[in-house]
Amino acid sequence: MNRVQCSICGAAMPGNWQDYPDYPFCSRRCRLADLGRWFGEEYRVPDAAPPDLSTPPDDE
Ligand SMILES: [Zn+2]
Repeated sequence: MNRVQCSICGAAMPGNWQDYPDYPFCSRRCRLADLGRWFGEEYRVPDAAPPDLSTPPDDE
């Protein structure tokens, strides 16, 4: 058994990890929450894409 759960909210993530674009988090919200932890503080999750932190463009 390979049970996976979101490391942020603990939600179970049944099915294949490929079903989760934000794996290993259950959602973008949790992914951003994890990012926020790196900043040592909680911050608001924007509706739009998060600010460009360190992700290079895909077509480079
Ligand atoms: Zn979650």
